[in-house]
Formats: sequence, structure tokens, C-alpha cells
Amino acid sequence: MNFTQLKQELIEYCGEVNIQKVGIASADTFDTLKQRLVTQQAFNYQSGFEKGSIEERTTPTKLLPKAQSIISIALAYPSKMKDAPKSKKGERRGIFARASWGKDYHDVLREKLNLIGEFLQDKVDGAEFKPMVDTGELHDRAVAERAGIGFVGKNCNLITEEYGSYVYLGELITNIPFEPDEPIEEGCGDCNICVDKCPTGALVQGGQLNASRCIAYQTLTKGFLPDEFRTKIGNRLYGCDTCQVVCPKNKGVDFHLHDEMEPDPELAKPKLEPLLTISNREFKENFGYMSGSWRGKKPIQRNAIIALAHYKEVQSVDTLIELMKKDPRPVIRGTAAWAIGKIGREDAKDVIELAKCYEEDDDVREEMDKGLALLEVEYT
Ligand code: SF4
Ligand code: SF4
Repeated sequence: MNFTQLKQELIEYCGEVNIQKVGIASADTFDTLKQRLVTQQAFNYQSGFEKGSIEERTTPTKLLPKAQSIISIALAYPSKMKDAPKSKKGERRGIFARASWGKDYHDVLREKLNLIGEFLQDKVDGAEFKPMVDTGELHDRAVAERAGIGFVGKNCNLITEEYGSYVYLGELITNIPFEPDEPIEEGCGDCNICVDKCPTGALVQGGQLNASRCIAYQTLTKGFLPDEFRTKIGNRLYGCDTCQVVCPKNKGVDFHLHDEMEPDPELAKPKLEPLLTISNREFKENFGYMSGSWRGKKPIQRNAIIALAHYKEVQSVDTLIELMKKDPRPVIRGTAAWAIGKIGREDAKDVIELAKCYEEDDDVREEMDKGLALLEVEYT
């Protein structure tokens, strides 16, 4: 079997099935990454969503014993929304990060990786492969960097020459001995914009991410949002794009190459208030196909309440009062109480104090106190 020719055929096939970039990485252990993950663990910078041990995440043969190479692919996604609705008084809107626009990218990438798997099985007897997208053990960005798809910038994103960092990555470990590609030389140079502009200082030590300080991670948590992030989260419902948007390598980059990645503006930038009372069924029907829905509706609703407080949206206070009094979830009751204090309608003190008389949950009562304290600070 001529694997050089097969690699060429693979590259052509990827072009035919609308894959923007493909590269080959060796299946050697990822030693540098291993060091980085050990440091990350020591500093407690992990998000807790990582899959597998450090050994598994850095040793391809632990995942496919006969691994000989890794095929890395990148699909470009849009950075600009056509006909984006305006967020205005009385109709404030939140925002889902770009990686959640359109159909869940995990599904889109899996379809492409399966096509490649079928292509290889047709060509090579005994071809073995293991596809992975984001939630697999392997580190998509480290694989893509080794495969020459791009370089990992200080914002911890994989940056390609043509599509900036607006790319989804996936990979296929195979037992086929493809010749690896060379990593590219480029890097961030003296630029430090993303580190300086990150609202929470989550990018540390020249490009390590302290996940617990990253807003993208904080939008996913299910408990109360720590106080220090409540003003910084703004109107974000899911994810954070700031360190990509400010990156000069993304300037003018906006590709619309996959219909399924086009956002529905009413869902990617939804009105906030209706989200507060959406039923489970409606949430699933409307938002279930987006990657941003994987943690369920509670974090999105909590973030929507904080976004309404951020806008000081007085029109939403009646709905917030209902949530504070009646929602069965303490996180929602407490966050609503805090938001009522933050917005500061003239009856805020009375309604929070009255609700506090009936509230039995200590955490919610604490949030009520925070709401009352905000009234004193901001409105006296
Ligand atoms: S996603 Fe947002 S919070 Fe996280 S590192 Fe980037 S700019 Fe900072
Ligand atoms: S903003 Fe600058 S430092 Fe950050 S990833 Fe982009 S090029 Fe690198």
C-alpha cells in the first residue's frame, strides 16, 4: 500500500466533503502537553470537565493500541450573525457564544469523521480508527498544532492562517502509518492583547487558562455565580468570545461554509425575559440542538437573570419577584432576589424583605441580604 498516495487521496476527499483543513500528527506521546497538564493540575486550573487521566489524554496508544498516526480536521464557523436583532429597553437580549451557533458542532464534526472512517475502511484492509471531538480524551488543539493545522495562541485557541481561531477541531486516531505534517512556525510574537483584555484575568503564565476564572466555564456552572463574576458576565448566556474577538488574527475573518452552522438569531441572541419562564419541553424543542444547551436550562436561566440585572431592566422585575417567591430551585430564587436589589425598583426593599420572611434556604436568604445591601449602596 502506498501511504503517500493514500494521504493525497485523503486530503482530496476531505475537500470534497467540505472539510476546511486536514493534517496528520504522529501518534507519539504529547510530552509538552503532559507537562502543562501536570502544572495545570498543581495550580488547580482545571475545569473539572476534562475526560480521562493525564496519561490517557497524552498517550494515543492508550486509546487505540495500534495507533500510528492521527488525522486532525478543522471546520470553519461563522463569526458574524446576519440580521442580528438589537437588544433594546423592554426587550433585552442575551448572547450565546459563536461555538454554540447552529447545530451542535460535535454532531457536525462526528459526521465528517465518520465519513473519513468509511473512506479509510474502503481503502485499507484492517483499518482501525477512533474518532474524537472535544469531549474525548485527546487534546484537540495539541493534535491540530502537531498536525500543522495552526498554532495555539496565548488565548489557548488554535489559530489557523485562513480561518483564524473560528474553527472546530476533531481527530481520528488510526493504525495507518501516514507521514506526519510539520507544525507551523508562527506564533503570537509580542502581541498580548487577549491576556490584557480578558475580563477576569483567566489567561495566566503566557497562555495557560485558569479555567475556574474563565467566564466561558462560569456560564456552565449550576450553583450561584460567585459575586466577582456577576458584573463581568454581562449578557452572556453561554460561553465567552472576548479573547477571540480581540485577536488580530481574527480580524475580518467570517466564513459561512456550512448551512448547519448558521445561527437562528432569535435563539443565538434570545430575548431574556421569556427564558425565565420557559418550560423544559420548550427549552429542549428550541435550544436542544445547540451545543450551548448541554448543561440544561438552569445555568442559562441563572445567567439570564444576571443579564437582566446588568441591564437594570425594570420591566422584568415583576417576573423576577415571581421567581424569587415561587421557583423551586434555590439558585434561581436567590439570584432573582439579588437581581431585584441590583435593579432597584422603588418597591425592591419591601418585596425582598417580605419574601425573606417566608424563605427557609440559608443560601437564598444570603442572596436576599446581598440584594438589600445593593439597594443601600446604590440607591441611598
Ligand atoms: S473566554 Fe473570556 S473569560 Fe475565558 S479566557 Fe477568554 S476572554 Fe477570558
Ligand atoms: S490576541 Fe495576540 S496574543 Fe492573543 S492569541 Fe491573538 S495574536 Fe496571540
